[in-house]
Amino acid sequence: MNENSLTPLLGMTLPQLRDVVVALGMPAFTATQLAEWIYQKHATGFDVMNNLSKVNREKLSRHYEVGRYAPSGSQRSADGTVKYLFTCADGQAVESVYIPDDDRATLCISSQKGCKMGCTFCMTGRQGFHGNLTAHEIINQILSIPDADSLTNVVFMGMGEPMDNINPVMASLQILTSKWGFAWSPKRITVSTIGKLDSLRRLLDESSVHVAISVHSPLHDERASLMPVENAYPVADVFELLSRYDFAHQRRLSVEYIMWQGVNDDQRHADALVRLLRHTDARVNLIRFHAIPGVKLRTATDTAMLTFRDNLNAHGIIATIRRSRGEDIFAACGMLAGKTGKKAEK
Ligand code: SF4
Repeated sequence: MNENSLTPLLGMTLPQLRDVVVALGMPAFTATQLAEWIYQKHATGFDVMNNLSKVNREKLSRHYEVGRYAPSGSQRSADGTVKYLFTCADGQAVESVYIPDDDRATLCISSQKGCKMGCTFCMTGRQGFHGNLTAHEIINQILSIPDADSLTNVVFMGMGEPMDNINPVMASLQILTSKWGFAWSPKRITVSTIGKLDSLRRLLDESSVHVAISVHSPLHDERASLMPVENAYPVADVFELLSRYDFAHQRRLSVEYIMWQGVNDDQRHADALVRLLRHTDARVNLIRFHAIPGVKLRTATDTAMLTFRDNLNAHGIIATIRRSRGEDIFAACGMLAGKTGKKAEK
């Protein structure tokens, strides 16, 4: 948390860092040095930046800080998943979920404090909207967990709708994938969205990260009753847009489909989903529903999920049933609420 009046440099893109150093009378190349220290060498202060002159380090420290802050709490699941709580400068809390899995370690990060999209089955949605995260607060989640160095993947699937906070999300993607930043391949990153079309178009045009679309029902009226966004951006329009992009080669398109008993788990829905996806190379993740307080929906049975999966596979669509992680600590899909109680683990 930034508790003083210093401005964090973490979360700034190279052009923004350049503006900072030039305004302080330093050569423009100092910005590249700063970016390397912050994003590649993971410096937390100016003292270690030994290729910057002492005078310049002092100048910077009068107005700026690196801006790293540690999680304020964490909870570890029996399956090794760890949920981290980050307290923002305004006191609002967001969560990130660290998911180790064989040779992969994925961090699921948040993009907003709460969410205004109002999906009826989602704990974050039920909590309401309390503000957008800055690029500083987004990148800090990735750099400040104890396992930061072991991360292989980042998914924007935590609290909030990334396409409802497009500028900080795009800046974060630039920091993660640029040579002067983390220099990660875009293939290590997935952005999940319910399909806000205007911002989704920008994400598709200006990045090559993987995209995941939360569909949950292929039928307009039924989806609208679960996800109000359907009224503004029908999922059919979302897939019409997606059909114009190539997902067979460099980037991947996946569909998130939570399955509820008697709601979206039968042949009619499988057929409609096949029709919806027919012009895209999408693969489907079928997800068990994790009960949350105040929501009467029940997860589909294993039999229904297997039948649904086989139905999609029979139509040439790769579909898998996703293994749940972190349900015991309310870290699974749709369960994040920014309320982890324990102190951070060392
Ligand atoms: S599912 Fe995603 S978009 Fe919908 S309310 Fe939850 S966080 Fe927001």
